[in-house]
Amino acid sequence: MAATIKVTNPATGELIQEVKADTEEEIHLALRRGHESFRKWSKINAHERSRLLKLWSKKIQEHKDDLAKIMTMESGKPLHESLGEVDYATSYIDWYAEEAKRLYGRTIPANTESKRIIVSRQPVGLVAAITPWNFPAAMMTRKAAPALAAGCTFVVKPAEDTPLTTMKLIELAHEAGIPADVIQCVNGYGSEVGKIFTESKYVRKITFTGSTPVGKLLIRDSASTVKHVSMELGGHAPVIVAHDADIDLAVEQTIASKFRNAGQTCICANRVLVHESIVEEFAEKLTNEVKKLKVGNGLEKGTQIGPVINEKGFNKIVSQVNDAISKGAEVLCGNKYNANREKGYFFVYPTVLKNVNENMKIMQEETFGPILPITTFQELEEAVNIANSTPYGLAAYFFTNDYRTGIYLHEHLDFGIIGWNDGSPSAAHAPFGGMKESGIGREGGVEGIEPYLETKYLSIGDIYK
Ligand code: ADP
Repeated sequence: MAATIKVTNPATGELIQEVKADTEEEIHLALRRGHESFRKWSKINAHERSRLLKLWSKKIQEHKDDLAKIMTMESGKPLHESLGEVDYATSYIDWYAEEAKRLYGRTIPANTESKRIIVSRQPVGLVAAITPWNFPAAMMTRKAAPALAAGCTFVVKPAEDTPLTTMKLIELAHEAGIPADVIQCVNGYGSEVGKIFTESKYVRKITFTGSTPVGKLLIRDSASTVKHVSMELGGHAPVIVAHDADIDLAVEQTIASKFRNAGQTCICANRVLVHESIVEEFAEKLTNEVKKLKVGNGLEKGTQIGPVINEKGFNKIVSQVNDAISKGAEVLCGNKYNANREKGYFFVYPTVLKNVNENMKIMQEETFGPILPITTFQELEEAVNIANSTPYGLAAYFFTNDYRTGIYLHEHLDFGIIGWNDGSPSAAHAPFGGMKESGIGREGGVEGIEPYLETKYLSIGDIYK
């Protein structure tokens, strides 16, 4: 296993910090400690767990500026987005600090007078999480908060590109009074740590946010010990703009969805299907706005589009754009880069493509970059068929002011998250997650704590002597 992980700034390629990678023994030890501390933590009353979670959230807010700066430096996202992510991350802790107190069971009327039936909920045990680099804070807290609220203990392995935000969050959890063995961080390369997590008899649940191929591996490897799994995987979100849509709103919300974090989010608009009667107006208005987006280092004031995370991500974006252009796509703006492979920074200028079709890679694969392809449709049914013709089923968006169209689209789109005239649907109080190969389980809302709980049924007999 590698001894260190080099964390670099994707805006400059400069080294920020070399982080020690944990050895196999150290990771096993962390898992054993997590397992052993479960007995005590799971028995602490829910109000006390809630209190500690609230203290953690408060600590994070006190360090908001430092955390945001670390996040921008290691992930590249604009500072205002990092500040927003700190709030978003604590909103999950705040929500689950409350939900901890609402883990209700139930009683069931028995079919005989001499019995009582009680159903209660208990935590699954030690949870091992693997998180991605695109939301280094929020993807961690939305797993850790429900896990701890439920009474589980928690070990996280952050993405190699962005471990520093997570390490700081864990430090703050300990400062807030959450015991050191209850929430831990280990560092290492995904495939190596993933294997230790899935093989460990101590880990009762794997929760993962990342790519679909890695999610499939983790599901497969979790089978040997029948672990619980929650998977937040890839997306390929369609945006459908109906003929009656408010075009200005559709433009504004599509941009909000697509260009946040330089298009590196799993729910961002990946393809736009516009009714042919309004495509010219939509494309022109959209392009005018996209041209105004400022590209640069996320620490500089006014930056709206930071660098993409690394060379692998950059290569994928460029190959999708080139493929689309070679097959006839028209470039309305962008198709411009500021990249230096030697130094290791990669900026992609926001790009709008028109006349795209289903034969292009960009209409089949997740892009994870600031590229927006536009195609047209005539009938709603056709738009739904195109939208659903993907193995992914995470997020979909549509714009219409006709309630019949809205209800039709809501009922026919096979996606776990749907935005109707709304390009930013994520919230701690709502269930986030995908259908099909986009995942298993939900995070957020009352649903988001369920995956950390077991149901235990007690049948009491012989009540009357
Ligand atoms: P991306 O390609 O966008 O980086 P990944 O799914 O590869 O997405 O990465 C998300 C997280 O999964 C990271 O923490 C990474 O270290 C981890 N990871 C990568 N490969 C594996 C693997 N084979 N097993 C477990 N985790 C992995």
